[in-house]
Amino acid sequence: MTAAPQEETVNLTASGELEDALERHPDFPRHLAIKIDTQRRGVFYTPRALAHVDPEKHQLRSPYLFGSRDNTLSQVPESLLLHDGTTILTDPTPLEKNPYRVDWREGEFALVDGDQTVVEVELWPKPDYYGKTTRSGTPMNHVFTARPQRLNFFLSGFCQFWANDKGCRFCDLVTHWKRQKKEWNVASSFSSDDIEETLREALREKGRFTNFCLTAGSNLNGPEIFDAEVDYYVEVLQSIGRVLPGGKFPSQLIGSAYNEKQLARLYEQTGLSSYTSDLEVFGEDKFDWVCPGKAEKIGYQEWKQRLIRAVDIFGRGNVGTGLVAGAELAKPHGWPTEDQALGVTLSEAENLAEKGVTTVYIVWVPRPGSYFHDQANASLDYYIRLAKGLHEIRARHGLKVFFDDYRRCGNHPDSDLSRLL
Ligand code: SF4
Repeated sequence: MTAAPQEETVNLTASGELEDALERHPDFPRHLAIKIDTQRRGVFYTPRALAHVDPEKHQLRSPYLFGSRDNTLSQVPESLLLHDGTTILTDPTPLEKNPYRVDWREGEFALVDGDQTVVEVELWPKPDYYGKTTRSGTPMNHVFTARPQRLNFFLSGFCQFWANDKGCRFCDLVTHWKRQKKEWNVASSFSSDDIEETLREALREKGRFTNFCLTAGSNLNGPEIFDAEVDYYVEVLQSIGRVLPGGKFPSQLIGSAYNEKQLARLYEQTGLSSYTSDLEVFGEDKFDWVCPGKAEKIGYQEWKQRLIRAVDIFGRGNVGTGLVAGAELAKPHGWPTEDQALGVTLSEAENLAEKGVTTVYIVWVPRPGSYFHDQANASLDYYIRLAKGLHEIRARHGLKVFFDDYRRCGNHPDSDLSRLL
């Protein structure tokens, strides 16, 4: 373990917000509200908990696209697992920000608020291939990282929307990439050999992985914008296809907003089965402010149209967009009230759902390496209402979200609700 946990010298009090929100939403699953609130506030692993983390048994943090609120690269556990199968991707957070704590109590890991145990938790089990290297010496957990049932090909690297200071305002990808490169020697691309070798090794663990997810920063290069980005994804997907021959395989690409030619190429030349392109926030003026690079190069309306056109290629329910929920409320140009934000967000999601595009959200974490580093995310009440609203829209329109559900992704409170259908 390389973590350097600080001593618990801060006087922590339970926020009470969880119980208040559950009283207002008695129909909402308690475990899911805990998940959301833990993501909102972050976690601090106590020294007592860290003493019981076993790097041979538990999955520790690996290279990732984004950093964390504690602004370090500690190898604390990647995530928590609740007893109903809910996963909570954790964001290590300094004690002074009053996060939940993960402690060791009565022989179990426990999520603690103030002095009260909120729920017993488990840690994600370490995948068998973690700790191994490819023949070229690349750590396999740099090539693919694991969610409980999914393999992530998440390339750490530059996003060209960051050029001229036009990166998305909540995003710390480039600052985090520089740190990972320096401290963990993480590469910005991987060879086909490394990809295939890692994949074969990961899939030796029977019954664990059921899906792939690929993403990275945007690459604007090429004769047409994003051509170079698509070239690389085609290459990676074809490498995966050599390990899993026979056509389509369960997979998700979270990429830039591609034109029809690029989408057709991905669909026809690879085994890719679903496509996601994130609008991040709904509402054109909010998008223009929060995502200036995307607004300048493609624009809100065209981004939406590209998603809708992708449905003709990938099929209804196999195209999605993601929101960094709460960023639409950032100051000073975000929505002044949560009610206004919710109204516009659900109306835009409904509009896209009518055309076969699904919308999921993640809880926004204001990170030190981002432009919005000193802002606060939204209330628990807001995130609960948003989860219910997006889930109800999907249910109304018969949209499935298999590639982004609680087993595959586990990072979207709204799609956790899909298991209730
Ligand atoms: S597109 Fe936006 S959110 Fe995605 S990596 Fe680039 S700047 Fe960050």
